[in-house]
Amino acid sequence: MHIQFIGATHTVTGSMHMVHINGKKIILDCGMFQGRRAEAAERNKTFPFDPSSVSAVVLSHAHIDHSGNLPNLVKHGFSGPIFATAATADLCRIMLMDSAFIQEKDAQFVNRKNRKRGFPPVEPLYTVADVQPALDLFQEIPYDTEFPIIDGARGMFVDAGHILGSASVVLTLDDPATKKEMKLGFTGDLGRPNLPILRDPKFMGNVDALISESTYGGRFHSTSEEMKSHFLDIIKRTMNKGGKLIIPAFSIGRTQDIVYKLNELKNSGALPDIPVYVDSPLSTKATSIFRKHPECFDDEAIELLRKDPDPFGFDRLTYIENVEESKQLNETTEPCMIIAASGMCEAGRIVHHLANNIGNSKNTVLIVGYQAEHTLGRRLVEKEPIVRVFGEEYNVKCDVEVMNSFSAHADRNELMAYFDNFDRERLKNIYLVHGDEDQSAKFASGLKEKGFKNVAVPVKMEKAEL
Ligand SMILES: [Zn+2]
Repeated sequence: MHIQFIGATHTVTGSMHMVHINGKKIILDCGMFQGRRAEAAERNKTFPFDPSSVSAVVLSHAHIDHSGNLPNLVKHGFSGPIFATAATADLCRIMLMDSAFIQEKDAQFVNRKNRKRGFPPVEPLYTVADVQPALDLFQEIPYDTEFPIIDGARGMFVDAGHILGSASVVLTLDDPATKKEMKLGFTGDLGRPNLPILRDPKFMGNVDALISESTYGGRFHSTSEEMKSHFLDIIKRTMNKGGKLIIPAFSIGRTQDIVYKLNELKNSGALPDIPVYVDSPLSTKATSIFRKHPECFDDEAIELLRKDPDPFGFDRLTYIENVEESKQLNETTEPCMIIAASGMCEAGRIVHHLANNIGNSKNTVLIVGYQAEHTLGRRLVEKEPIVRVFGEEYNVKCDVEVMNSFSAHADRNELMAYFDNFDRERLKNIYLVHGDEDQSAKFASGLKEKGFKNVAVPVKMEKAEL
């Protein structure tokens, strides 16, 4: 029995880990890798194993960096079950279709330019037609319920409190050599206590080995009061300059969190009078999916829904579905707020909004999520004066603000508090993934100080015996 770390090693994207047991293979997550365009295209296109040799996939949640390469896995021969919670399966239905659609559109856009420059055409990673075969393999599993995966391996999903349907995974494995049973935990992405709508992350129970995320293993988020005043300050400053506030955000999860927060500010009278556009065809579908899954809600959200049937809408908020309306936002000269996907600025309508607006010093780009290395989002965070968008250079003259406290990831304190639940004697090996180098290293040393043994930060393709 061993684990092999295939993706999200020393980085936050492309989550994928393989469990080898009794000669069979199970993969945890099948995420899309985001980073330098050429490298990302190559890493996503080819798997370092034969997909047809994998028996099953266990999926922690619907974010594209965890689920986004499933259609490609199926295209290359995988035909086993994909286990996920019901809400994750529903979200994947729209997110994977959207992802395919965006890739087709981006490829068309780039190819129009490539043709003019005499470059060869690029292929989308997968197309809309490739998505349905992957969706057909989903098997919905409720939280806290053990399910058989293959002979000698059972799984269980525990609420990770990160996005709708998100789960930590506990695998119970029977070791054929020793006839002993062992538990392997995988945190998936761990959420934060008191996130809107969702229940708090639930402890997965004691395990013998653990694969843990470490995105903010060395950072602290600000309090909700600090966050509110910082957010309002950025909105007002942009309005005073007469500019646009552009917010790149995952279309499901982060976008709803921002809208929910704006709705709250609106209700309390604190929000200035500014039009808000959610420019994402996906986000309009999100509310119905949220409604369909009250099993994922905390008590507060259930209570709020009873009083306010639409916590994702208010009078100055417009959801934009079609491309023409999206393009019209370029013509708008009045201050406004535009929230669009994708979160790391690598695909989708946000890329066009950035291309149109980063050259103007009146505008502000507000980064609210983690930006992987070498993505356009990361280059903006690092205040690079010139960035490339769709192969063309743009001068960055707008303001760039960063607010990590919108994050749906636990910060260092919250991660440490979660780890306090574990029996340190029983938990013999911890593998930190899903974190940039410095964050994983800081978290590893923190865990060692707390008395955890054998904390490793595995490299890509590294194997560990179980
Ligand atoms: Zn996530």
